[in-house]
Amino acid sequence: MSFERSPTAENHRIPLNDGNNIPLLGLGTFSTPKITAKDACYNAVKIAIDVGYRHFDGAWVYGNEAEVGRAFQEKIADGTVSRDDIHYCGKLWNTYHPPEMVRPTLEKSLKLMKIDYIDLYIIELPMAFKAGDVIYPKDENGKYLYQLTDLCATWEALEACKDAGLVKSIGVSNFNRRQLEQILNKSGLKYKPAVNQVECHPYFIQPKLKEFCDLHGIVIVGYSPLGTCRDPLWVNVKIPSLLDDPVLNSMAAKYKKTSAQVALRYQIQRNIVVIPKSFNPERIKENFEIFDFCLTDEEMKRIDALNKNERYVELLMWRDHPEYPFNDEY
Ligand code: NAP
Repeated sequence: MSFERSPTAENHRIPLNDGNNIPLLGLGTFSTPKITAKDACYNAVKIAIDVGYRHFDGAWVYGNEAEVGRAFQEKIADGTVSRDDIHYCGKLWNTYHPPEMVRPTLEKSLKLMKIDYIDLYIIELPMAFKAGDVIYPKDENGKYLYQLTDLCATWEALEACKDAGLVKSIGVSNFNRRQLEQILNKSGLKYKPAVNQVECHPYFIQPKLKEFCDLHGIVIVGYSPLGTCRDPLWVNVKIPSLLDDPVLNSMAAKYKKTSAQVALRYQIQRNIVVIPKSFNPERIKENFEIFDFCLTDEEMKRIDALNKNERYVELLMWRDHPEYPFNDEY
């Protein structure tokens, strides 16, 4: 997949394999609920829409879909955008993998957000916890309760949601090559995954997974594109801070940009969708200002060479699950 023309602030959508499209830049909305002020997400989404963002990455499990939806309703009501202008990605949490739970779970998100379809709905993780409404189920010894589910059956339930018009596109997240192949090789496959949302940034550039996804027309959506918020509860903080990287900072100085803008620009020049999270008005704006400069081929190669092939987000809660995706090479 390549650009037919350069992406601009006004139009940076790229095609998906099902005829729909996705803006290359979106706003991430995950922020640990316990330490996040009420309405922080709602305010951020409204500001982002005013800045020009049209893509929002969320999930039921983030606990703030009602805020995201309320921001959408207000910006639609005041005439800034129409529903069709917005691309919202929601995620199926992994205690809802059994096929009969998929549609009711999606409908919970629609109800919370007061919308009648989601643009892109993805399976958040390829491995399930025990099914039910306990988000992080544990046994009496504090061990996480895993469940083995059939990813192909979950996928078929997503296909049915697409056929019912509740979602426009469907995809996956944190899937490795083998798990993608399980879906791609499923007999009677109706729709291929449109995206695979995975960690991706200059320290973890995922060259092999990218090549595989390109071959199958699957767009990579890169999460943690700025190297996460560095919360040691879920982030491997042994890896240095991406935004302090000297190479990114020297390029930033050359273009009068920031290291964050260089990191984001690098990804969109590789046709990788980026979803930086910020609830800060200045940084929301800063992260959007990536369409007025271009890295040279030589600079792209220098950033490729920063790859450490190590993840900030190791998903350690699932390390012992038989479907833990990160034991495979990619
Ligand atoms: P990220 O976007 O790489 O980084 C977010 C952190 O960077 C926040 O602490 C933010 O703080 C700060 N920040 C934002 N813009 C900045 C700038 N210009 N300069 C300096 N600092 C800046 O990390 P992420 O939240 O892990 O990933 C982004 C999104 O990906 C998430 O919000 C979520 O939607 C998605 N995600 C998905 C998965 C999955 O399993 N599918 C996993 C992780 C994340 P402020 O808010 O204070 O600006």
